[in-house]
Amino acid sequence: MLQIQFAEIPEEGLALKVDDVSWFPARELTRSGDLRVEVFLERNGEMVLLRGSIDVALLRVCDRCLEEFIRPQRIDFSLVLELAETDDGREVEIDDHVADQSEIEVVLVDHPVVDLADLLHQQMILALPQKILCRPDCLGLCEHCGANLNLEGCGCAEISEHSPFAALGRLTKDKN
Ligand SMILES: [Zn+2]
Ligand SMILES: [Zn+2]
Repeated sequence: MLQIQFAEIPEEGLALKVDDVSWFPARELTRSGDLRVEVFLERNGEMVLLRGSIDVALLRVCDRCLEEFIRPQRIDFSLVLELAETDDGREVEIDDHVADQSEIEVVLVDHPVVDLADLLHQQMILALPQKILCRPDCLGLCEHCGANLNLEGCGCAEISEHSPFAALGRLTKDKN
């Protein structure tokens, strides 16, 4: 179901709704609700143009305040799959005019098969930001008492300035 032979793609293209969710990286990511995947495949000789979208809501943990939140995401992608003919040692030439339409990633495949599981998994991982915040202005946690500053003011900032420990801290620092 998730593997499509190039030869199976008709001239007018092939539109698919992918119901099989086995490709989803469930060990790394938690989703909330449905996963909707649509792809459109077009074949041009030994090349296949794959366009698609992934709609998913992910359960994430904010890097700053450590709260869980749900973020809906839509990932659009376009890929060109090109059959790598390496058997005869010939260098693989990537069609310039395809590569020139920049932004389109060319994926070389060993067999004339579209491995949707692999490709969708990759697109999902690539689309994840390195750092994620529940909101752009998340205040995070107080470094003294651990309070979530989005929810409550803890007053640590004022106390620490006047506390004897703060003064002590300054003294020790000065000595060094
Ligand atoms: Zn946060
Ligand atoms: Zn605090």
